Amino acid sequence: MSNYFVTTSIPYVNGDPHIGYAMELIQADVLARLARLEKKQVIFSIGTDEHGGKIAEKAIALKITPKELADKISLKFSDLADKLNISYDRFIRTTDADHIKRAQAIWQLLEKDIYKASYVGWYCTGDEAFFTETEVKTHNGICPNHNRPFEKIEEENYFFRLSKYGDVIKEAILNKTFNILPENKSHEILTLIDSGLDDISISRPKDKINWGIKIPNDNSQVMYVWFEALMNYITVLGYPDSEEYKSYWPAKVQVVGKDILRFHGAIWPAMLLSLGLQLPEKLYVHGFVTLNGLKIGKSLGNAISPDEIINIYGPDAFRYYFLRHIPSYGDGDFNWSLFEKAYNNELANELGNAVQRTITLFDKYFAEELISINIAQHDIAGYTQALSECRFDRALDVVWEQVRGLNQYIDETKPWEIAQSGDMEHLKEVLIYQASNLLEISILIGPFMPNTALNMKKIFNLSTKEKFRQILFPKLDKK
Ligand SMILES: [Zn+2]
Repeated sequence: MSNYFVTTSIPYVNGDPHIGYAMELIQADVLARLARLEKKQVIFSIGTDEHGGKIAEKAIALKITPKELADKISLKFSDLADKLNISYDRFIRTTDADHIKRAQAIWQLLEKDIYKASYVGWYCTGDEAFFTETEVKTHNGICPNHNRPFEKIEEENYFFRLSKYGDVIKEAILNKTFNILPENKSHEILTLIDSGLDDISISRPKDKINWGIKIPNDNSQVMYVWFEALMNYITVLGYPDSEEYKSYWPAKVQVVGKDILRFHGAIWPAMLLSLGLQLPEKLYVHGFVTLNGLKIGKSLGNAISPDEIINIYGPDAFRYYFLRHIPSYGDGDFNWSLFEKAYNNELANELGNAVQRTITLFDKYFAEELISINIAQHDIAGYTQALSECRFDRALDVVWEQVRGLNQYIDETKPWEIAQSGDMEHLKEVLIYQASNLLEISILIGPFMPNTALNMKKIFNLSTKEKFRQILFPKLDKK
């Protein structure tokens, strides 16, 4: 089967996009672009999660409707994806009529595992989540994420029989048919399952939260926002009314952040099992990005807009930094000095210079000749392996070994001295070797830095009279 479905999580539209989500977009984009290079039929889906009390609350404060707020913020996310050159095929919004209709159909298909019961417990609208008695006690009744009291809730809710599916999910994780990466995240879910999965509340009374998808045949309730948001991964493929999902589901990879692991490692798989659908092949869980070593939060006032970076350095440098210098299997930090160091040393000096040192000599000595260059072929098993494990950082390490190796070759071979000696045949041979390596590098970095890859291909297309020249990653003075 050559169909490939990859998703990001869908962020909640209560705030502007931050660099952590930008990283998630880029990671999934690498996988989608790689799959296309491998001639697979790809659907790459992203989107926004738009219902729930938090959106309603914020809309009231802004004196607009929840839908107006959702429209406004959703657009910021699609703008960011475009700015980052994200090659998504679909952008789903949970307020789309199709999603709503399908979420209601899915609810009905899940009905054998849904029951009504009264719920007594604690809720934080800031998190759109329920909390246990223990969690509430630990924090003296105040939500640590939002500095507001947990709300005591006593209401009739619908529940989903999550408890029924723990064992099956566990088995799927252990036999890797549901492969959670990295391994420690897989352990986290196994521990959670071993501690026992409770059934979960999946609706809210309409008189408390109105901004949600109505439950079929019950006008008093709306779906809990998390529950219907998870469904986006199959409603975007037309499930259940269109056939398309049959050729694209299960997803090859679902990319999510570690803060929503529980939803994607336990609740979502249980929903799929209840529907009789397969679990995603891989759930890749990325870590957090800190800013100058501090957690990024609106309340801390230290958020940085991805635009600030992209506007100065462009999308490829941004993509490079977050793919290589934030560990794929852990947390990482952004700060300007680390970023500028990576830009200057690795992109400008190493990659940019290798290109420049090669093309300059071609232009100086062989400008009139049409030369066709074969692409070098190194053993790239390490690169392929790293990407199959969503280790974007390692894949780029492998590429950079080649970049450094090539620079070393140029330093040692000194083509400019060969030119002075007048041995043009030898010079040409050396330059062709350099160019063939750079063309191979351009293919390897294609999924990571698509514009740069394309420019390199154009620069080293020496079999035509038309010349394309550009300095890759020019040295910049940040104002
Ligand atoms: Zn909270």
